[in-house]
Amino acid sequence: MNHDESRSLYDRALSVMPGGVNSSVRATRPYPFFVERGDGAHVVDADGNRYLDYAMGYGPLLYGHDMPEPVRSAVQSHASEGPMYGAPTEIEVEHAEFVARHVPSVEMIRFVNSGTEATVSAVRLARGYTGRDKIVVMQGGYHGAQESTLVEGEPGDVHPSTSGIPEAFAEHTIPVPFNDFETMNRVFEEHGEDIAAVLTEPILGNNGIVLPVDGYLEHLRDVTEEHDSLLIFDEVITGFRVGGLQCAQGKYGVTPDVTTFGKIIGGGFPVGAIGGKSEILEQFSPAGPVFQSGTFSGHPVTMAAGYEYLKFAAENDVYEHVNRLGEKLRRGITDIVEDQAPAYTVVGTDSMFKTVFTREAPSDLSDACEAGCEQRPDCPRYDHCPKDASDIQSAETERWERIFWQEMKDRGIFLTANQFESQFVSYAHTDEDIEETLEAYKEAL
Ligand code: PLP
Repeated sequence: MNHDESRSLYDRALSVMPGGVNSSVRATRPYPFFVERGDGAHVVDADGNRYLDYAMGYGPLLYGHDMPEPVRSAVQSHASEGPMYGAPTEIEVEHAEFVARHVPSVEMIRFVNSGTEATVSAVRLARGYTGRDKIVVMQGGYHGAQESTLVEGEPGDVHPSTSGIPEAFAEHTIPVPFNDFETMNRVFEEHGEDIAAVLTEPILGNNGIVLPVDGYLEHLRDVTEEHDSLLIFDEVITGFRVGGLQCAQGKYGVTPDVTTFGKIIGGGFPVGAIGGKSEILEQFSPAGPVFQSGTFSGHPVTMAAGYEYLKFAAENDVYEHVNRLGEKLRRGITDIVEDQAPAYTVVGTDSMFKTVFTREAPSDLSDACEAGCEQRPDCPRYDHCPKDASDIQSAETERWERIFWQEMKDRGIFLTANQFESQFVSYAHTDEDIEETLEAYKEAL
């Protein structure tokens, strides 16, 4: 593949943009390919190379790169009419009504402009509602670029995980291992009266895709209720991706007090949202005392795209298609891994998937996987699947990112470049695409 044009664009970008990119994950080594356009399940780069895309914009593109017709028309008509006003519009109400009709926890919703803005606002909302400061988060969880959750360490020894954040923020955040019942109990015994909320992704989607073990989300529901704390599910990735229109909370049957959304809910345009019980959401200004505001919030083009996106999913076989192909891909990669790299692990559910290069797992990983990589307790591999962040800390990141990711790219397959971030199957992917992808995995592994 020729990459001259991408290389020269990267040179220009480096002199005017820090690291040459506007989001750090895009700075793949030795230089990123610059995308010229999307085409169904593919992207075409500035040199004309075509890649089968599983990054899918890091999650928002449920339909791939071509908008279904109703989405395209709605976007075009809203863009040409406005594009925005700083005054409310009907399409915001329609979108809010749709989400409230389908997502178990949502009675009211506030739309914002990114997943980060949603989690920042949700944490402020929980603190305002409860009058408490502390939040509990999961080690290996990700909630965007916000001060309160960019932390590392153990309960009692927590620090900001990046420079630029005062230690004082970390003092109010308690990171615990995901799927660990005992640590959560201990933290609530010690700090219960000060905890505003437990904030967690129902599935850790930025840490190799870690599913909740049986009863864990229910436990979070119980322990937060017992201590009058809020349970916040960050469904920025899983919202309208896992569990269909009911999201992961519907799939697992656990209803949080507050849910944060992003990605798919905006139909490919910048978005975030905070949904939940009216009593809590009405703490947001102007209804209540917790300040929340935004020039672009509820942007008509985004609202039109998001609403039509979800409506299309309600009226077509979208989840059936992406989940079937997701299952086919996970099973296919599992077979290849068993044969060629038995210590590596395939993870995911619904249309999310990833192959994690960990050699920590014992040799019986080569046992047949009956559960289709869903990390179900009846799977013979279950004991060896990652269940918290530390299980995959030993994964071979350099090998994944420097060699495997490049090898796949050279074979025309675009994966998310960080080995812990999820990949996604879209409605535009076909059975033939999956077969082509499995061939590439076979060669690259
Ligand atoms: N929460 C989760 C679970 C995410 O995966 C992300 C981003 O990937 C965010 C929050 C932040 O969203 P954004 O990048 O739109 O700010």
